[in-house]
Amino acid sequence: MDVDALRHGILDNLICLQARPPGIATPHDWYMALAYSVRDRMLARWAATIQTYAARELRVACYLSAEFLIGPQLGNNLVNLGIEDNARAAMRSLGQDLDALLAIEEEPGLGNGGLGRLAACYLDSLATLEIPSVGYGIRYEFGIFDQEIRDGCQVEVTDKWLQKGNPWEIVRPNVAYYVAFGGHTESATDECGRYTVRWVPARMVKGVACDTPMLGFRVNTCNTLRLWKSEAVESFDLQDFNAGDYYQAVQEKVISETLSKVLYPNDEPEAGKRLRLAQQYFFVSCSLQDMLRILDLKGEPVARFADMFTVQLNDTHPSIAVAELMRLLVDVRMMPWDEAWEITCRTLAYTNHTLLPEALETWGLPLFGQLLPRLLEIVYEINRRFLETVRRKFPGDEARVARMSLIDEHGDKKIRMAHLSTVGSHAVNGVAGLHSTLLRQTVLRDFAEMWPERFLNVTNGVTPRRFMLLSNPGLASLLDETIGKGWVTDLTRLKALDAYAGDRAFQEKWRDVKRSNKRILAKRIHEATNIAVEPDALFDIQVKRIHEYKRQHLNALYIITLYQRLRRNRGQGAAPRCFIFGGKAAPGYAMAKLMIRLITGIAEVVNNDPAVNGRLKVVFFPDFNVKNAHFIYPAADVSEQISTAGKEASGTGNMKFMMNGALTVGTLDGANIEIRDEAGHENFFLFGLTAEQVERVKREGYRPAQYAEGNAELRETLDLISGGYFSRGDRQVFRPLVDNLLNSDPFLVLADYADYVACQERVSGAWQDPVRWTRMSILNTAHSGKFSSDRAIGEYCERIWNISPMRVALDQGLSAPLVT
Ligand SMILES: *Cc1c(COP(=O)(O)O)cnc(C)c1O
Repeated sequence: MDVDALRHGILDNLICLQARPPGIATPHDWYMALAYSVRDRMLARWAATIQTYAARELRVACYLSAEFLIGPQLGNNLVNLGIEDNARAAMRSLGQDLDALLAIEEEPGLGNGGLGRLAACYLDSLATLEIPSVGYGIRYEFGIFDQEIRDGCQVEVTDKWLQKGNPWEIVRPNVAYYVAFGGHTESATDECGRYTVRWVPARMVKGVACDTPMLGFRVNTCNTLRLWKSEAVESFDLQDFNAGDYYQAVQEKVISETLSKVLYPNDEPEAGKRLRLAQQYFFVSCSLQDMLRILDLKGEPVARFADMFTVQLNDTHPSIAVAELMRLLVDVRMMPWDEAWEITCRTLAYTNHTLLPEALETWGLPLFGQLLPRLLEIVYEINRRFLETVRRKFPGDEARVARMSLIDEHGDKKIRMAHLSTVGSHAVNGVAGLHSTLLRQTVLRDFAEMWPERFLNVTNGVTPRRFMLLSNPGLASLLDETIGKGWVTDLTRLKALDAYAGDRAFQEKWRDVKRSNKRILAKRIHEATNIAVEPDALFDIQVKRIHEYKRQHLNALYIITLYQRLRRNRGQGAAPRCFIFGGKAAPGYAMAKLMIRLITGIAEVVNNDPAVNGRLKVVFFPDFNVKNAHFIYPAADVSEQISTAGKEASGTGNMKFMMNGALTVGTLDGANIEIRDEAGHENFFLFGLTAEQVERVKREGYRPAQYAEGNAELRETLDLISGGYFSRGDRQVFRPLVDNLLNSDPFLVLADYADYVACQERVSGAWQDPVRWTRMSILNTAHSGKFSSDRAIGEYCERIWNISPMRVALDQGLSAPLVT
């Protein structure tokens, strides 16, 4: 771990793995050599961890997720190993700058946004808390697209993250499973009189394990993220090849390899995409087969499955696990149905992530039956038995039976994946207090009535290692010297900052940290957009996926309003303010793309208007991803969390901002409510309708145009947009957006506009008093402890998984047989 050993390791790897002499090595070669050297130092811990798990009686938490947005690995691994300074010195001795090498790393963009990033934060906490665990997912060859902005519009560019090689990944060709698709089933009665079903598939795909080590912070626990890559079963189908149909043989290979090719770039499911269902089944089947193999290797009977594994379903994407585990136990392991069902329910738990009706996954029966004929039969049988239970409990209530059925019989029949997950799990949780309450009252109401004990809340969290220690080193050292280093693994210790909130000298240091973070962001903004922003301005930031429910357009309406006010009084007395946006729109989501155009259109006008005199700047920062998030969250003065109440399940960006001392402008939605309760209501800028009021307004017939008619400033703002003011005179471009707001406004932007403007004026007032502002900022960080993912994972362990830590010793012998 010392500088000299690192230096030798790096030189060795440069030559032995990267095959480059130092004299002609490129920065990327040096990055690879350093990454391999860091990986080498993780491998002893990885082996020790696997060894410990193989030798002991224990339970493993398996986190099944179609997305893992893990971000760049080098910096995080250096921090977790505690060798950042040594690596910096070693690179310097080789004539290289560590920061430049960190900037080279391509991040694995294997997720869309919050859901995938949550899975990554949870892996960090699981390892840091020394919990035996595996993350299971898909190794997409192309992750989320890179976003470029051309002429103010989003352009999607293929994410070629594997092009230059991935030093963190270890492919294990010997850990591979076959997954069946299509074909038909045949039933028979075997010699013991047992009814058996054989699935005769049309094709098989092979899933190969690609492992990434997930090291905890300053512990020996190094868990595994196991992602499945699809391959053709044989390189060529020899039958076809011998018959001379060479091209047919190659075609089969192409189809198999397409399975894990690309991540679907939508935050919510796109209806009826066959390949998407195939991806889900593929990774779920590989993962469950892997667990069964580990069970066999440990010599445990299948009946012990639920004692050995607890499986968390991250949303309904892996919900086919309910039927697949039944298939593996009943069809393959010949277990009686009732016993298999008991094991399945005891093993699985389901996290719901959305109440939005358009985001609830369903699969049409014909598609499902064609692709997974045996799974459909199993879903029918689960449903038949389940509905019997419902009828026993609620006799004569056929309306309830129809509502709860796993099959939606209205119109084209569909399987409701949220219902399947709920029926097949022993625990169902929402991701923030409000969301869990609404889940019980709306989407899963009948289920909560039937099984109240099954429902609970686990509020999301984020890892302070990545989002404070790694990405905000200035704040981290100030915290270390003020309250000690313990906060990194016990974030509630930040409360000790309360004593310093009013301390003038400490406040000065606090502002210095923020100013230096803002300078870094200003530099990045200039490089990326050529816009010059003033680090002394208030940095007001909204970064997240672009979506109508997240209401970036509400923010945009306020900016236009502020712009008009500034023009009228020529900006006298107003504090300079810089609005920064970032986020990707789903490629097929026209309204979201239009919202990006509106923001860039406003930026073009406002940033170039001399009347504004630099008091207002608007920036759309391209390609918001984890790497960019590192320098965005720490530079925020204001965090925009302005979703329509009841629509954002939790949010996690809100927590990252809070930890880094930003003040939240927010609605009573998701985790904002808990953030406000923790921070103190006086340290949070609240506005907008409550979830209850939103529902009432909609019930009573919402007429958005009335709000425009009754508010001259809002009318003027909308008129400017439709008049082409932000589209170089083109009156057509923003028509769909303005029409939508005036005629339907499904997310109540206009209803919340006036209160949002008033709230933003309170923000401006507070900003004028730096002592008061800094105090509020310190108190936000001080009270962010609850939002550590360590707290969230602790709750999952205790309340859902019934699992405890397992210490890993580094110096154990490697004699016992290994289970990989
Ligand atoms: C945290 C994070 C998100 C989620 O942000 P929300 O504001 O909670 O929607 C999305 N993308 C990235 C890259 C993140 O780091």
